Amino acid sequence: MRVIGTAGHVDHGKSTLIAALTGVHPDRLKEEQEREMTIELGFGWLTLPDGEEIGIVDVPGHRDFIGNMLAGIGGIDAVVLVIAADEGVMPQTKEHLAILDLLQIPSGMVALTKTDLVPDAEWLDLVEAEIRESLAGTVLANAPFVRVSAKLGTGLENLLETLSKLLKEKPERLDLGRPRLPIDRAFSISGFGTVVTGTLADGNLSLGDEVLVLPSTQKGRVRGLQTHKKKEEISIPGSRTAVNISGISLEDIRRGEVVIKPGQYETTRRLDAQFRLLDDISQPIKHDTEVKLFVGASETIATLRLLGAEILNPGEEAWIQLELRDPIITVRGDRYILRRPSPAETLGGGVIIDHQPKGRHKRFDERIIEKLTSLAEGSPADVLYEASLANGADTLSNLIRDARLEEADAQEAVEELFVENKIFNLNESGALHLTDALHHESAPESRTATHPKADAMQFSLKDFVIATTHWDALKERTLNMVRAYHEKFPLRRGVPREELKSRLKIKTKLFNAMIENLLKTEDVDDAYRSVQLPGHRITFGSTEQAKISGLMRQFDANPFAPPTIKSSTEEVGEEIFNALLALEEFVQLSPEVVFRKSDYEKAIDMLREYLAKNGKITVADARDLYGTSRRYVLALLEHLDSQRVTMRDGDFRKLR
Ligand code: GDP
Repeated sequence: MRVIGTAGHVDHGKSTLIAALTGVHPDRLKEEQEREMTIELGFGWLTLPDGEEIGIVDVPGHRDFIGNMLAGIGGIDAVVLVIAADEGVMPQTKEHLAILDLLQIPSGMVALTKTDLVPDAEWLDLVEAEIRESLAGTVLANAPFVRVSAKLGTGLENLLETLSKLLKEKPERLDLGRPRLPIDRAFSISGFGTVVTGTLADGNLSLGDEVLVLPSTQKGRVRGLQTHKKKEEISIPGSRTAVNISGISLEDIRRGEVVIKPGQYETTRRLDAQFRLLDDISQPIKHDTEVKLFVGASETIATLRLLGAEILNPGEEAWIQLELRDPIITVRGDRYILRRPSPAETLGGGVIIDHQPKGRHKRFDERIIEKLTSLAEGSPADVLYEASLANGADTLSNLIRDARLEEADAQEAVEELFVENKIFNLNESGALHLTDALHHESAPESRTATHPKADAMQFSLKDFVIATTHWDALKERTLNMVRAYHEKFPLRRGVPREELKSRLKIKTKLFNAMIENLLKTEDVDDAYRSVQLPGHRITFGSTEQAKISGLMRQFDANPFAPPTIKSSTEEVGEEIFNALLALEEFVQLSPEVVFRKSDYEKAIDMLREYLAKNGKITVADARDLYGTSRRYVLALLEHLDSQRVTMRDGDFRKLR
């Protein structure tokens, strides 16, 4: 699912354009309607000409509300930079463009609005040429232009088609199995409680998920999910998501916090980062400057420490460490923006290199600078881990190939990921005594582990591994499904394996490996090709019990000529009858015939006794022995043949 965002100077026609495209005016607040200006984030969605539905975040263009702009712009896939043809590039156009560039927004276009206000096309050509110059060297350098007038309704189709083309070229957001929803709005709806919205990243959220809001550490559960005002059972990465959370009240959370699943993220108050100071800054930056940090939807005061310089001049880059006043959630690779608190000004930004640095770095330490440089490039373990997150469950050899690692680096990287419990070996149910086959068998000297904690660790290239976050999420999803199935079908032993697999929508190889692991760890039990939670028992209520007693009376009356499967099913209902079968109350002899287990055992005893005396038996004799009809006797004898109790010899049966 994709989300686009708007950007641009105040009054250049962003909200009007979105209203023209969606039919919904995104300016929600009354104050805005009165002032005709977006100050909060506005949200909407639309359907592109190719049928794809996309979310829209309309950000405020006014300089006083740049914090709101930043809260919304982070997770978008493409931006529409709105520039009014009669005014051209204005201060907030420039500031927004700088921000889009620092955030490395994946793609974008320029909408030249209010074209009805300029005299002719030549004028438009001039304005466009001027804009092109401003875009040079930024992420939007090659962005397409579309001329529109919301007033006349011209150019709108072209705009949608251009967007559609832009998005088609970009891959969908990855599911990394570790969802996070930076909260850009929080409100409460009477009768439902707390609702938060944001652009979901890095994983799915499902109904019933236990969630944690960080940094306030409020615990809750997903009670409802919506995307584009439609109810969903599951919300996917990249979608505008509204989550109704039970167990958390509105007063306890605020914008900028992040909804996650417990155990998947930790807060931080110190960051190492790569930083670029913008070109047109009013003055250089000194060490220990107080700044405002924007990452995700969060905003906090921080102290900027220059690790390798005394002073930073406009346009320069540096390694920095940020000491935050308040804890936030962010991870390596996230993009951030720094602003000067006063006078308010966007300073620059960059990418987070380490979100949990070991401590406060000494300045001008070459080793630290070197370490940050190599971290920025990504260690082999990082790269391998990224491959694992992207590929889902895969063999080690595929991951190493996709990560393009050298053999020696791969060995170390795999060990590191196992030791740090970042990947899980599905072949060995997590136990780390695998055979080290990364190196050829002919080179036994290279079998020693290189990681200090990894002496006993061995693995095979063929091992099927999965990122631990994916594994935990899959396990949780599976167990929730089985639990829900038990609730819905209390009279069934468990979810048939095939059904579970198709509902999980995972490949057979992963499914089988997963079930094997869950059986080993006793998270589930095996029941008749079904999967059940340990300790799940079928229990009947009193009405069900009464129906069963009625049926059993008929079996009592004629144990060897009992009701057929069809009539039993009609009598008690399919659900109960299947439950009795699952509980092994019955033995099925043929597609039509069942005996109660005790009657079946008695039938075998009677037959053994008869055969001990007479040696052999015909169908007719057996019919007399049981006082039943030919149909039941045939079903019984054929079943006993197949069970290798008896064998056929012409018209006779003998003991095998
Ligand atoms: P925003 O601050 O960028 O969201 O700008 P708005 O959408 O609120 O528009 C600002 C003003 O420009 C409003 O008075 C709109 O009616 C007007 N406007 C927007 N689009 C057009 C257009 O295409 N042509 C003309 N003539 N006016 C427009």
